[in-house]
Amino acid sequence: MEKRVLITGGAGFLGSHLCDRYFNEGWDVICIDNLITGSAGNITHLIGKEGFKFIKYDVTNYLDVDGPVDLILHFASPASPIDYLEMPIQTLKVGSLGTHKTLGLARAKNARYLLASTSEVYGDPLEHPQKETYWGNVNPTGYRGVYDEAKRFAEAMTMAYNRYHKIDTRIVRIFNTYGSRMRLRDGRALPTFFRQALQNEPITVFGNGSQTRSFMFVDDLVEGIYRLAESSEVEPVNIGNPQEISILDFAKEIIELTESESEIIFKELPADDPQIRQPDISKAKRILNWEPKTDRKTGLLKTLEYFKEQVLNHG
Ligand code: UDP
Repeated sequence: MEKRVLITGGAGFLGSHLCDRYFNEGWDVICIDNLITGSAGNITHLIGKEGFKFIKYDVTNYLDVDGPVDLILHFASPASPIDYLEMPIQTLKVGSLGTHKTLGLARAKNARYLLASTSEVYGDPLEHPQKETYWGNVNPTGYRGVYDEAKRFAEAMTMAYNRYHKIDTRIVRIFNTYGSRMRLRDGRALPTFFRQALQNEPITVFGNGSQTRSFMFVDDLVEGIYRLAESSEVEPVNIGNPQEISILDFAKEIIELTESESEIIFKELPADDPQIRQPDISKAKRILNWEPKTDRKTGLLKTLEYFKEQVLNHG
C-alpha cells in the first residue's frame, strides 16, 4: 500500500531534503509551507510529479487535508537567530499553535507524528556534551527565547498527545545542520561565512569566537530522522555530529576551504548566545544504529559548489 507523509516546512532547507528522501523511498508526499522562510525553488523539481503535492498554507491555522495520512513531520519554523528577531510572534506561533494543529491532524488521521525539536532546548548549556536527559538552561524572555520556549512547549505538547491521546510520536533534537538549500542570507554563521569568504569580504565573528558549535551535514540528518520515524522511540533523540569547533577556527577553516583573501573582524556577541554545543549521540547510536558518516571537511566541500552558485546568482 502507498504510504503518505505530510511535511510542514516542506519547502525549507531541511523540509525539502526530507520531501526528496520520502519521495525517493516511494512515499506520497504532501508538502505544506507558507513560504515566509521556505522557498518554492527548493521543491520545483518535485512539483508536477505524481505523488507529490504542495499546499501553500500557514499551519498555525486549523488544518485539514483530503485522504489518509500515515506520518506527519512538523518542520515548519523560522530557524535562524535573525529570523527570530524579525519574526518573534510567528516563531512562537508555529512552535505552539502549529504543533497543536499538526498533532490534532495526526489524531484525526491516526498518523504517526515526528516533531522537529532542537539543541536550543538546552539553551546555553551547563552540561557538556548535551545528553537527552539534560533539562537545559534557557532564558525565557530573551531574544532567542521565542524559539527555545516554543520548541520546549512543542515537546511538552507532543508528549501530552502521546500520553493522553495515545498518538504515536517521535521527537528529534536537531543540532546545527548545513548543506544545499540553506538561505545565503539567513544570518547563520555557516552561510554568512561562505558568502563573505567567496566575496572576499571581512568574516564577521561574533564575540571572541571562542564559542563552539558542532556542524552536521544534511544527508546525515535526513538518515537519522528517517530511522527515528521508523523506530519505536517516543522520548527525544539527539541527532547531530559531535565534531566540535570554535567559531573562530571555523571562520579560518572556511577561509582556507574557499581560498579566500578575507580578513576576520570581530562583532558584538548576541545576547544569550550559547557558549558551547556538542551532542551526545550515544542514544541514537544505540537505538537507531545511526551515526554521522560525513566529516566536516567532506561535507563543507560538498556544500561549497552550492554556495558558489548562490553567490554568483544572488550574491
Ligand atoms: N556567528 C558569528 N558570525 C555570524 C553569525 C553567527 O560569529 O555572522 C556566531 C553566533 O554568534 C554563534 C555561532 O556563530 O555563536 C553560530 O551561530 P548560528 O547563527 O549559525 O546558529 P546558532 O547555533 O547560534 O543557532
